[in-house]
Amino acid sequence: MPKFSFRCAKIVRRSRPVSAAGAAVAAILLCLSLAACGGAAEGQGSGGGKPVVLTTFTVLAEVAQNVAGDKLQVESITKAGAEIHGYEPTPGDIRKAAKADLILDNGLNLEAWFAQFVEGLDVPHAVVSEGVEVMSISEDSYQGKPNPHAWMSPVNVQIYVDNMVKAFSKLDPDNAAVFEANGAAYKAKLQSVKDEMVQKLATVPEAQRALVTCEGAFSYLARDAGLREVYIWAVNAEQQATPQQITKAIEFVKANKVPAVFCESTVSEAPMRQVVGATGSTFGGVLYVDSLSESDGPVPTYLELIRHDSKIITEGLTGAAS
Ligand SMILES: [Zn+2]
Repeated sequence: MPKFSFRCAKIVRRSRPVSAAGAAVAAILLCLSLAACGGAAEGQGSGGGKPVVLTTFTVLAEVAQNVAGDKLQVESITKAGAEIHGYEPTPGDIRKAAKADLILDNGLNLEAWFAQFVEGLDVPHAVVSEGVEVMSISEDSYQGKPNPHAWMSPVNVQIYVDNMVKAFSKLDPDNAAVFEANGAAYKAKLQSVKDEMVQKLATVPEAQRALVTCEGAFSYLARDAGLREVYIWAVNAEQQATPQQITKAIEFVKANKVPAVFCESTVSEAPMRQVVGATGSTFGGVLYVDSLSESDGPVPTYLELIRHDSKIITEGLTGAAS
C-alpha cells in the first residue's frame, strides 16, 4: 500500500500544468478507478457505518460535530494549527474526500484551493457561510472582496449551524429531528458566548478600543464588540508583511498609543514583534482564528476560541495581563 501511494504522489508532483490541486484530483481519481494504488479499501467505512462528513478546517469540524452528535462521522481535511487559506491538499486528502458522503466548506474565498479540490469529485458539498451578512475587505489588493472570517461572529455561526442542519438532514433524513434539536441547543450556546464576548470587551476603555493583529481576520468580532480593527495584512498569503504594511501598523500604534498588539496562531508573529520593538507597545498574545488548537491546547472548541480571544484581547488592552 505505501508503495502505491508513493506512485500516486509522484504523478501529482510531475503534472502541474494548470494547478497542483486539479492535477492531484485527476491523478487520484485515476488511481482510484484503476485500483492500481490498492488504496480503495483504505478508509472505507471509516465512519463505522455512519455517513462521513468532511470539513475544510478544524473550526467547522468542531461546530459540525455539535450538530451531528453521534449520528455522523465528522473529520477535518486540515489539521489543528494548519494554515487554511493557501493549503495544498495532499493525495491522501483527495482519497479521503472521494469517499466522504458530504463536504462542508466555509466559502467567501477562504479556501483558495477548494474549487479545484472538489472538481471531479462526485460528492455533494455545502457552503456553510451562505446567508451571512458579509463584510468586505477595505485594504490591500483584496479591497472590496468578502472577508472570509465570518465565523468570528458567533451570530454568523448560528447561520452556519442552520446550513449544517439542512445539509445533514438531506444526507441522513432519518435523523433530521436529532440534527434540528442539536442545532437549537448549540445555537443557544453561541448566543451565550456572544453575550459573554461583548460584555468582556465592553470593559476596554474607549481610548484603547483598537484591535491590532497580523491578519485582518477580526472584522466580524470587532463589529460585534465595537472595536476598531487594524492589521498588518488583509488575508494570509505568501506575500505579506511588506515594509510598507509594517510601517503603517507602527504609525497607527504610535499615534494611538495602542497598549498591546496581537498575532494569530497559524502565522509567524515576527512582523508584529517588529511593531512592538518600534513602538513600545506590548505583545498581547496569540489569538486563534483559522484553526483550533490540539485537544490539550487552549482552544480545543469554537466556544473556547471565542472565550480565549476575548480574554487575551481584554487583558492586553486594559493592561491586566502580567
Ligand atoms: Zn485567515
